[in-house]
Amino acid sequence: MLTSVIGYPRIGAERELKFALQHYWKQEISAEELAQTAADLRRTHWQTQQDAGIDLIPSNDFSYYDNLLDTAVLLNVVPERFRALGLSELDTYFAMARGFQHKQGDVHALAMKKWFNTNYHYVVPELDDNTAIRLAGSKPVDEFLEAKRAGILTKPVLIGPYTFLKLARFRTEKTAQDFAPDTANAYAELLAKLADAGAGWVQFDEPALVMDLTAADLALFTDLYRTILAKKGTAKVLLQTYFGDIRDCFTQAADLPFDGIGLDFSEGRESLALVEAHGFPADKILFAGVVNGKNIWKNHYSKTLALLKKLQPYAAQTALSTSCSLLHVPYTLKSETKLPQAKKVAFAFAQEKLAELQELALLADGTDSNAPRVLAENDALFAAERSGKNPAVRAQVAALTAADFTRKPDFAKREQIQKAEFGLPLLPTTTIGSFPQTKEVKAARARHAHGEISDTEYRTFLRQQIADCIALQEKIGLDVLVHGEYERNDMVEYFGEHLEGFLFTEKAWVQSYGSRCVKPPIIWGDVSRKAPITVEWAVYAQSLTRKPVKGMLTGPVTILNWSFPREDITHRESTLQIALAVREEVLDLEAHGIRIIQIDEAALREKLPLRKSDWHSAYLDWAVPAFRLVHSGVKPETQIHTHMCYSEFQDILADIDAMDADVISFEASRSDLSLLDALAETQFKTEVGPGVYDIHSPRVPSAEEMETALHKMLAKLDRKKLWVNPDCGLKTRGTAETLPSLTHLVQAAKAVRKEL
Ligand code: GLN
Ligand code: ZN
Repeated sequence: MLTSVIGYPRIGAERELKFALQHYWKQEISAEELAQTAADLRRTHWQTQQDAGIDLIPSNDFSYYDNLLDTAVLLNVVPERFRALGLSELDTYFAMARGFQHKQGDVHALAMKKWFNTNYHYVVPELDDNTAIRLAGSKPVDEFLEAKRAGILTKPVLIGPYTFLKLARFRTEKTAQDFAPDTANAYAELLAKLADAGAGWVQFDEPALVMDLTAADLALFTDLYRTILAKKGTAKVLLQTYFGDIRDCFTQAADLPFDGIGLDFSEGRESLALVEAHGFPADKILFAGVVNGKNIWKNHYSKTLALLKKLQPYAAQTALSTSCSLLHVPYTLKSETKLPQAKKVAFAFAQEKLAELQELALLADGTDSNAPRVLAENDALFAAERSGKNPAVRAQVAALTAADFTRKPDFAKREQIQKAEFGLPLLPTTTIGSFPQTKEVKAARARHAHGEISDTEYRTFLRQQIADCIALQEKIGLDVLVHGEYERNDMVEYFGEHLEGFLFTEKAWVQSYGSRCVKPPIIWGDVSRKAPITVEWAVYAQSLTRKPVKGMLTGPVTILNWSFPREDITHRESTLQIALAVREEVLDLEAHGIRIIQIDEAALREKLPLRKSDWHSAYLDWAVPAFRLVHSGVKPETQIHTHMCYSEFQDILADIDAMDADVISFEASRSDLSLLDALAETQFKTEVGPGVYDIHSPRVPSAEEMETALHKMLAKLDRKKLWVNPDCGLKTRGTAETLPSLTHLVQAAKAVRKEL
């Protein structure tokens, strides 16, 4: 049985690419040195896969910044504003990714968006009526030849034309359809070149096919591939899908002359049913995506083998594959020196997944004499009771009833009660929680972690920071204060560290975008709260002022979505466990006199299913209640805030409102204000704080521009429901710009209040 890997991580096990990029951008190394690091990484990755016995090893999965950006450049989709800079090819590429501000010019970067339902972000190609699509580069061929010279025959990987056109942004009249013929011709030409170079297989990634497809989408897909495959030469073509099933185009894909079709059996809820219902064309190889490319748990072999057995009658030939690119998992468990062996055996990172593919292939062929032992060992892992089981928490989750998810009294009554309780002015001003994490703060945390300063010294330091932060906010004149979040490294990791049930890694980095990585914690066992987490800091901050200080927590859905979740229980159950733990903290804060509590759900949208039809049944129907569970127990006069880091929730407005918070703040400064119309139209009940300035930039906004923003908001929204705040936390900002920015914010609110 053939084994195939869809894509491999590229940032480097030690994040070599990240550091090389940063050095290059600071002009500390040359383009040649950067290229050398990249070539070394590619070589290592190919070699690792070859050593693991993988048959179809991907190439062109490497990228300096992003594969979709590579594809845009390959297809000559470089907007004029970047060409006009007159930079080298490489620097033009980075200007598209990161923007450019220098003597030659000042241009904004291309937009960046979430790659399907992952935490990876791609650069959005921009097309306009002057864009002339043609094959303008040779990266896939070059990298194929580079591997070939190293003695490794690879399978070039391309982001397919359908996904490319679906994710691109069309700035003027022309649409995807208009660009389709040129796009198809460019891919056909590339395919021929890859075949000439000696490629046996070429993989076309088409994850966009797992979305809901319209008739026009289907026509676009089939038209593109009819053209491309008509001129197919000697290279075999694999249509690779992932992140779901292709229920809307399965038969069309089967009818096209592909040589292989890759289906995701991990997230593709209907993949098996599709094959059972329609059969699988005898002239194609079924690439079965059975090794989960998105999570870090070991594969359960007997289950996978049972699935393969079910597929056998339908497919003449099956190959084994990862469910998606391994880009979304860390490199290797070998880098983890602190994880206990008893826990390590449960995991497989990218490199270990290669071994799983190989082992599964042997098991499926029935040629492995060790099979009984391997299977027994693997089964034992899943049969064993997972350490970290907490019967009390399980019982608590099982005993939840509708009342636990319902806050009383209803919103309108609470709103009245709270207006009287807090007596805040119209347009109350506040911030999202964190204040600048200065060098000093980071250094103190690091010294504490290394045992260089004692708990008492660290605590004293944090208290001083909090006192300064409260004094600063008093001086600025904000209405609702925060303690500043100085004790936190990260909004998820911090809570994970203080809850039972989480594991942490040393090097388990996953690329988030460009040179950025995240290191998600692992949810290992049942989650519970060991002791109060934030109470001490909130209470101290509140003791310093008569103004209300917001308690600051991370919500359960965000904690789950920014961790590696368990697979032995459902996301719903795991999230409810986390919700119960956060709920204890909420009640504790309230009991200690904290009257406003913010529960951030920055990542609520993260795991929203790709198909609209699945949104509620598969996700929102438990995610929204999980949030409600966290705050349903507080008194009517306690005000619950939440925060989201984006404004794309027009399509789920009713669900956001159903979270039943009293106030929500979100990003609005960088997006158009169409959300405001939608809020008005749906009679959104929750009070809102659309960000009045962008904290992602060091720029200091003037009071006037924030007044303008407020006027726009007031034109659409009930003035009694409007809050004034920045669009996210200030932790990445410097102190120098924070003081004037917030001062201007308060000035703007005061000026506009006078007009009301
Ligand atoms: N309260 C957090 C902060 O202010 C929220 C961060 C976020 O939304 N990502 O930093
Ligand atoms: Zn935010």
